[in-house]
Amino acid sequence: MIRREGLVKKVCPHVLKVSIEIIEDILKRRDEEGGYIRLGAVGVEDAEKIQTVIKNVNKQNQFRSNVHELLLTSGRKIGFIQFDIRRFKIINDLYGEKFGDEVLFFIKDKLGGMCNDRQFYINLRSDVFMVVTEYDHDKDLMCFISQIEEVSASFKNVKLQLAFGVYSVDDREMEIRQMEDRAAMARTAAKENVVSNVIFYEEQFKEFLYTRKFIEENMLAAVEEKQFKMYLQPKYSISQNRIVGAEALVRWIHPERGMIYPNEFILVIEENGFIKMVDYYIWEEASRFIKKCIEIGIEDCPVSVNVSRHHLKDMEFVHVLLDDIKKYHIEKKLLELEITETANDEQIGQAAMRLKLDGFTLLMDDFGSGYSSLNVLLETPFDVIKLDKKFMDNMMSSDKGKLILEHMVSMAQKLGLGLLAEGVETREQVELLDKIGCDNVQGYYFARPMPQEEFFELLKKDRSARK
Ligand code: C2E
Ligand code: CA
Ligand code: CA
Repeated sequence: MIRREGLVKKVCPHVLKVSIEIIEDILKRRDEEGGYIRLGAVGVEDAEKIQTVIKNVNKQNQFRSNVHELLLTSGRKIGFIQFDIRRFKIINDLYGEKFGDEVLFFIKDKLGGMCNDRQFYINLRSDVFMVVTEYDHDKDLMCFISQIEEVSASFKNVKLQLAFGVYSVDDREMEIRQMEDRAAMARTAAKENVVSNVIFYEEQFKEFLYTRKFIEENMLAAVEEKQFKMYLQPKYSISQNRIVGAEALVRWIHPERGMIYPNEFILVIEENGFIKMVDYYIWEEASRFIKKCIEIGIEDCPVSVNVSRHHLKDMEFVHVLLDDIKKYHIEKKLLELEITETANDEQIGQAAMRLKLDGFTLLMDDFGSGYSSLNVLLETPFDVIKLDKKFMDNMMSSDKGKLILEHMVSMAQKLGLGLLAEGVETREQVELLDKIGCDNVQGYYFARPMPQEEFFELLKKDRSARK
């Protein structure tokens, strides 16, 4: 039957898989029945399975040949829209597979009603659908997507949320499969995006998804083989021209890929919870380092560690910090905590309060980068504000900005808050910060983050120069 349909010539792993399963089953029955079994004895169910697979393959072939034709003949833009239903598995589990099938049929039916003879749709598998359409402006495409969303908003009172990935064809020579893959990548991104459920394909997705896969496959070995390393970046006092502390920044040194920076992997490991292992490891390394400094008489170089928002969901992390403090016999004031503040965040407020009561020094990271407003200065239990690099660059680019910065510094002083400028790169920045009284700085102008051993040497040199 398969040969008759001409499918053997085409690569279709699914047909082969089902065929092999059926043939294996026949052979097994032949063995069990101890004899010969005629091929005609394929059960009705098996025959139906094969029929369904063949029908689907035929539909996909038809769909692709229609799309191919459209790509050749259309003078307008062409968009590949792939979407699926968020939490479809839960719908299946809750209401049963039959209901799930009805949902899919319902969507197919709606798409059928919406598409004209130059718009094509297909149910690729399970709850994944693809629609290809011509359009002129992005807003028309968005309008079409909204329409799909509207007509499939609910089925029998069950709300259906869809996630859309869009690829707008920029190279018509590309294989259709590749175009589908791009829409699929965008759909994956849309599923993870909490802000928007429609995401357009961008070149960097490919890279992003490869990186994500790489991280997920390699992170366990990375912990076991101690590939995560603590780097330290010095913090300086401009007026005293000396090191007044350091920030611990994680680096992943992979044996083949080399150094991987936190911006590439922190988001991924925050999502899958792996951040706990990494941060706890860095906090312990920082504690060990502080102890090492104390042992040679340097007791005035606090190390700050980054506390991901992920930990703030419960208080487990506080115990981890307290255990480190105890284990290495260090004072809490030497292990400082950097937390990124966002507007009206109760969780952070509570956690910060708890840490404050426990006696830790709290640094508000990335101030001015996003949501933080002057309000947080009113309610905050933070001790030090770290001015974000972008915020500073912005402020320093105009006289008005410089004035705001100057007044912020004096306000922080009056409120008894410490201030530290991050990402300081130039002599002019240092001079301005010095002039307006922001004494503590961190940035490439002074030093880049470095392996902890290197920082240890630098610190020793810095301290001995002062004796
Ligand atoms: P962050 O906490 O704001 O850290 C400062 C970042 O700015 C660091 O990037 C640092 O290398 C970089 N930087 C320092 N001086 C300069 C400068 O003069 N110019 C410029 N352009 N950049 C400068 P890094 O190490 O790549 O870390 C990026 C972010 O990843 C950090 O931002 C932090 O949010 C996160 N991160 C790093 N290490 C850890 C960690 O151990 N745990 C957690 N949870 N997050 C971490
Ligand atoms: Ca930080
Ligand atoms: Ca920062």
